[in-house]
Amino acid sequence: MRIAVNDVTPETKRATIIGWVHEIRDLGGLAFLLIRDRTGIIQVTIPKKKISAEVLSVFKEISRESVVRIEGEVKEIEKAPGGRELIPSSIEIISKSESPLPLDVVEKVSAELDTRFDNRFLDVRRPRVSSVFKIRSCILHTVEDSLYKKGFTQITTSKIVGSATEGGTELFPIAYFEKEAFLNQSPQLYKQMMMAAGLEKVLEIGPIFRAEEHNTTKHLNEATSIDVEVSFADHFEVMKLLEDLIVEIYEEVAVSCTAELASLEINNLKIPVAPFPRLTYEEAIGIASGKLAEGANYGDDISTSAERAIGEEIGCHYFIVDWPTSIRPYYAMPYEDRPSVCKAFDLMHPRMELSSGAERVHDYDQLVHQIKEKGLNPDSFSYYLSAFRYGMPPHAGWGLGTERLVATMLGLQNVREAVLFPRDRHRLVP
Ligand code: ATP
Ligand code: MG
Repeated sequence: MRIAVNDVTPETKRATIIGWVHEIRDLGGLAFLLIRDRTGIIQVTIPKKKISAEVLSVFKEISRESVVRIEGEVKEIEKAPGGRELIPSSIEIISKSESPLPLDVVEKVSAELDTRFDNRFLDVRRPRVSSVFKIRSCILHTVEDSLYKKGFTQITTSKIVGSATEGGTELFPIAYFEKEAFLNQSPQLYKQMMMAAGLEKVLEIGPIFRAEEHNTTKHLNEATSIDVEVSFADHFEVMKLLEDLIVEIYEEVAVSCTAELASLEINNLKIPVAPFPRLTYEEAIGIASGKLAEGANYGDDISTSAERAIGEEIGCHYFIVDWPTSIRPYYAMPYEDRPSVCKAFDLMHPRMELSSGAERVHDYDQLVHQIKEKGLNPDSFSYYLSAFRYGMPPHAGWGLGTERLVATMLGLQNVREAVLFPRDRHRLVP
């Protein structure tokens, strides 16, 4: 029976392990194999004179990254990792790896991103890369678990849609029989419709598709959005939900992913402290205009350079609130006494935007009016608008980008590193 590498202790007498050949060291009379599986690495020591001719002849055939099965005697030895080694009585090559490898699995200097993505299955064999995806898994699990306990219903809405969420050009058209259809940019309209359905608190974790043309380190064409919508809540309530969730995620990763953090050389994951500072949009623009040569004007979107300048100044997670209604989507709720400003917010990491949210418009007439104000045709939203005609509760929500959350937490330079198979303008394979 196979046992996991980390379960082999100095007390284990005999063991059969199956794993990848991490390294081969042949010192003449003595040879070593390092065998790796999901749990760790073990040293296999081959004293050539004391080992059978059969084992030796298989050993000579072994190439790095082959999958091998090794049975043998376990010996306590101080110098080897884990304080034990395996002396083989039999070796079998289960799947031989070709040489040379397109990507060096043990190499210390990291390869180019393109080489890594072209050979992602090899790339992920590296502990520091698999750690990113184990931490990502922990994050998504924490989100589901935390919100499930708070009474949220996890939903899955269609990604093939007949119209855009917000109009605009960021859409991928697809051929859908004889009709025109698109890949959905966001579950926004569907999660709002579930407020009319009475679910009250919904969570969706799913892909969003954006035809972003430009190559940036924070944009993907297919990203994973964590979407939340809550009935009878205002924007302040869902901001609190969001900041508490971010803190909980960091705390959970710090406790549950110690080995993964260590392999990423993160010794002390800094846990954000809630409540996060809140800047008004006007204050944020003020900071940016003071720090940027090109300035920043009220009414502009917050540019990437403005985002960085403000982030440098604040130095921790923060919210930007009270946005001009003119630059937020039609479904954001304007302040009653100041309709040019709306109850929208962005959650920011000092490096980039992580989430956008708002209290939503729930009144049918007001929503139709705001759709028209944006130059859009309410007729193309009739399926959405009808949900506002038969009893729609007030509601608020947000969308949080998983890859940006992972990349900012782990200090990854490019959000692509937080996706197994990133999609961008130049990458459709693998
Ligand atoms: P940005 O202005 O940074 O391009 P956005 O405001 O267009 O983002 P939203 O529509 O507000 O994005 O989406 C909510 C969240 O989803 C964003 O804050 C981000 O974390 C994530 N997100 C949106 N688009 C992308 C993308 N193309 N790649 C990666 N993450 C994205
Ligand atoms: Mg946004």
